[in-house]
Amino acid sequence: MNAERYARQVELPEFGEDGQEKLEDSSVLIIGAGGIGTTLMYNLAAAGVGTIGIADPEIVSISNLNRQYIHFEEDIGTLKVISASRKLRQFNSLINIIPHATAINKDNAFEIISQYDIVALAADKIQARMVVNEACYEAEVPFVAGDVNGFVGTCTFIKPGETPCLRCLYGTSLPPEDAYCSISSVSTTIASIEATSIIQYLLGMEVPVAGKLMVYDARTASIDSTPIVRKDDCPVCGTTEEAPIEDE
Ligand SMILES: [Zn+2]
Repeated sequence: MNAERYARQVELPEFGEDGQEKLEDSSVLIIGAGGIGTTLMYNLAAAGVGTIGIADPEIVSISNLNRQYIHFEEDIGTLKVISASRKLRQFNSLINIIPHATAINKDNAFEIISQYDIVALAADKIQARMVVNEACYEAEVPFVAGDVNGFVGTCTFIKPGETPCLRCLYGTSLPPEDAYCSISSVSTTIASIEATSIIQYLLGMEVPVAGKLMVYDARTASIDSTPIVRKDDCPVCGTTEEAPIEDE
């Protein structure tokens, strides 16, 4: 451990040297190197999380640069995972960065997710979010999920076996695959809340957004949290067998 580098956080009673070592022994998979994911990975790298995996199949385009600080103009045309890995290694050479230049899908989700302690779900495509939800339950890996649409963002922490899942939140009628609007100041707010939840979990602290949907609405300067209700017929975490999946 580089004591000087992490001195300002190790002073916290919730951290201490033991907490810092827990972070260094931890691995986090970030799914989506977009507006939320790229801020989140900076937060986790700064805190000294020992292994950070990044999964994203896309290349950097100029329309990403209004909110994805980790990518520079010179990175346009480069795989996002390569651009992000390069910056994070320069930023913190003490940690491991593992790029996965692939979309997470039904065929690879379990294999990749089961290599990590926790997942940060920062992909906005609803079907991808459902695949991650299911794979995390199968692999018993907790995950934090955030999304942003304009001036509103949400965050939740799901722990298989303890909390209801993302499918319980959405129900069987999934919302449409819209291209959400995103501005950097809102997506970085949500990313920071996600990153804090991950750090709390890795330190063994209570995670206040566990099993809740936290909604940040910048239009009213409000943050509200409501519990997610488990659906008995949820095809992922419900107790009723052979529940229907209407959208597949
Ligand atoms: Zn569920």
